[in-house]
Amino acid sequence: MGRLPPPDKLTELLADVAVMVRPQKGKGRVADYIPALSQVSPDRFGMTVITVGGEESSTGDANIPFSLQSITKVPALILALNTNGDEIWERVGKEPSGTPFNYLAQLEAEHGIPRNPFVNAGALTVTDYLIDRLGNPAGAVRDFLKIVSQTDDVWIDETVAESEFGHAYQNKAIANILALHGTINNDPDLVLKAYCRQCAIHMSVVALTRAFLPLASGGFSPILGESVVTTRIARRVNALMMMCGMYDAVGSFAYRVGLPAKSGVGGGIVAIAPGVASIGVWAPELDRSGNSLLGTLALEQFVQATDLSLL
Ligand code: GLN
Repeated sequence: MGRLPPPDKLTELLADVAVMVRPQKGKGRVADYIPALSQVSPDRFGMTVITVGGEESSTGDANIPFSLQSITKVPALILALNTNGDEIWERVGKEPSGTPFNYLAQLEAEHGIPRNPFVNAGALTVTDYLIDRLGNPAGAVRDFLKIVSQTDDVWIDETVAESEFGHAYQNKAIANILALHGTINNDPDLVLKAYCRQCAIHMSVVALTRAFLPLASGGFSPILGESVVTTRIARRVNALMMMCGMYDAVGSFAYRVGLPAKSGVGGGIVAIAPGVASIGVWAPELDRSGNSLLGTLALEQFVQATDLSLL
């Protein structure tokens, strides 16, 4: 694995990456199946790298909060694992799905057991689990992200949450199949509402990259000076991100970038270089798998320049 350049050179490199990816603008599409997300400017681009020593470098719109969407599935899983160890694995698998994040047929064929915690079916199951243990999963995830990033500017955008809930026909079907098979215990609409609020958490790329830094340093937060999760949980969450974090594009992402990562339809991606750094990027235009098109390209360019790939 490669090494990062010193902070001033790193900032220059990020600015170069931003220039390199620019010609691809216009080739993706901002998510519009959640109407409120279609209001976001497709021109946004922000990127941040934070080393395990706590040094931060950024470029572009890295301080503008955006909708995390599926990226919140990672802190939700961390809370579930922190709450009760391995219990969640009685209801959710750990295998890549090879399918889009909201695919229904696989869940039906596999009797209501989601492939992994990062497809929507798995994330809804984690939400159901957290409702029973923490009461308000969206609030708990928001508070966790606030503490770990040491940032106040982290909030649930209720307009985005309601906009998603009002149009969540596919996710409603998924929640109902989960209830049918007894994978979730709570009312499917209640679980879906909590899930939409969790997905509607907003924070900036800088804050997001800070929040994920413990996954790059064996669970330890250099910002808080203490462990946020055990080394074992950090390693396991990274394994799940590597195999399931980018949905049906997980193979090509590993081929191009070679780091565990999690994307969201808000256009964010956060990647982990274990022992070295966390890397966040935000560019709202998505590719056909619902992953940020420029974000993926930026990570690919960054990893090529630094030789940070794990593989
Ligand atoms: N809230 C979104 C959904 O369920 C999250 C999807 C994503 O970010 N990939 O459709």
